[in-house]
Amino acid sequence: MTIGSMLINGELYHGDDSFSVVNPATGEVFGHAPECRQAQLDKAIEGAAGAFYTWRQDIELRRNALKHVAELIQTNCDAIAHLLTLEQGKPLDKAKSEVRTSSLQVQFAAAAQIPVEVLQDTDQALIKLVHKPFGVVAAITPWNFPVSIAMGKVATALIAGNAVILKPSPYTPLSTLKIAEVIKDALPAGVLNIISGSDPLGAALTAHPLIRKIDFTGSVGTGKRVAAAAAPDLKRFTLELGGNDPAIVLPDANPKKIAKAIFWGAFANSGQVCIAAKRLYVHESIKEALTTELAALAEQAKVGNGLDEDTRLGPINNQAQFERVTTLVEEAKGAGARVVTGGDALGQGYCFQNTILTDLDDNARIVQEEQFGPVLPILAYQDINDVVSRANNTHFGLGSSIWTEDLPQAEVLAERIEAGTTWVNQHLALSPLAPFGGTKWSGVGYIGGKWGIEGATELQVINIKRA
Ligand code: NDP
Repeated sequence: MTIGSMLINGELYHGDDSFSVVNPATGEVFGHAPECRQAQLDKAIEGAAGAFYTWRQDIELRRNALKHVAELIQTNCDAIAHLLTLEQGKPLDKAKSEVRTSSLQVQFAAAAQIPVEVLQDTDQALIKLVHKPFGVVAAITPWNFPVSIAMGKVATALIAGNAVILKPSPYTPLSTLKIAEVIKDALPAGVLNIISGSDPLGAALTAHPLIRKIDFTGSVGTGKRVAAAAAPDLKRFTLELGGNDPAIVLPDANPKKIAKAIFWGAFANSGQVCIAAKRLYVHESIKEALTTELAALAEQAKVGNGLDEDTRLGPINNQAQFERVTTLVEEAKGAGARVVTGGDALGQGYCFQNTILTDLDDNARIVQEEQFGPVLPILAYQDINDVVSRANNTHFGLGSSIWTEDLPQAEVLAERIEAGTTWVNQHLALSPLAPFGGTKWSGVGYIGGKWGIEGATELQVINIKRA
């Protein structure tokens, strides 16, 4: 049985109580994580507030500490990845790549510049703009990419000079707690605290008066609760929320050429990606051909236990999500959708067959809502203006994609899509050169590069009269 420990003010804590962690490939409990009590939460936040005043002062100390954190994550990659597969379900090679990515994120943040802009430098005045840390930042993460989402948030906040309280999802706490154990001595006590616990720990964390900024990734519903919790204290927040990405295939696209990229754009991490393609609109002239190609790929990609070498896609992460995906598929079937392939659970943990549905209505819940599972609805269209309006007819606005040989047309069309990112002939392609965030209900604020640093800091104008 695996048992995790929290990191509070430089010390590891098993806690007095714990909660169970389930392996989604089997549906069985394999570990326990500590249930953080109010006194421990207070200690973590007060420790962070105390550590902040020294931590904020020396960027070279921060750079060196973060480089050390990155090395330790890399050195312990296999152990962290093993836990990640056990609790999240993804195949082990994907778990290792997530851990390696998180180490790179920390390295990248260690080298980041915190800009100081000179707005005026004359005989009359010096006016400069400095980016200052908020203080104690609460970082709250979901269960789909627990390690990389956590370390992206933590590294950006820390290099900017903040202290951090990190809370993983109770479905996937153990890989994050393993990081706590591994990096314990690499940072000054209190600078990074890692706590775990089930509902309502997240709400207690966001309500705490010493928290000045909340960096949240999760569902739209919880994001709105976080924004409401921030309001009484006017805490700042970044919200990276859900998506229902449309992928639009134009009539000139070649089904054989694009099928693989669309398949993985929709089914990577078993569809549990905020920016997965979640609604596929295909011109009616090539819809059947593309559907056939995608179904073949869905049947080839083996679903199973992430520890088995031949598994390409793991289970759905948890029972609630498994039941939700099952219900959405059953509803669609009941309303007359055609199941091209899949459509059922595998009878092994929370594994669900890769599923492709078609002949459904735009009003079906699986089209309107974020399914967040291995199911892709394929919808036909005739007219480009009509498909743009159907793609935009949603509260979501995270990612989106257009598939065509006509790049100039795609470039014009891309600007008509309401989304934080629109890809052409690719999906899920995040670039370190670009910000990442959502429009409408998909988020507030941006992460990545200089936009991430801006999100982890606030501005101060220093205006000196010289004459
Ligand atoms: P949830 O919103 O259910 O939970 C996210 C985190 O918030 C968990 O740690 C949860 O802990 C915590 N939480 C719950 N209630 C509160 C509260 N009132 N205050 C503070 N924290 C709280 O999301 P999921 O974990 O189910 O993640 C899936 C969702 O995340 C999908 O919608 C997906 O699209 C989105 N996502 C968005 C990304 C983006 O970058 N835009 C990236 C990845 C995922 P607990 O479970 O204990 O309640």
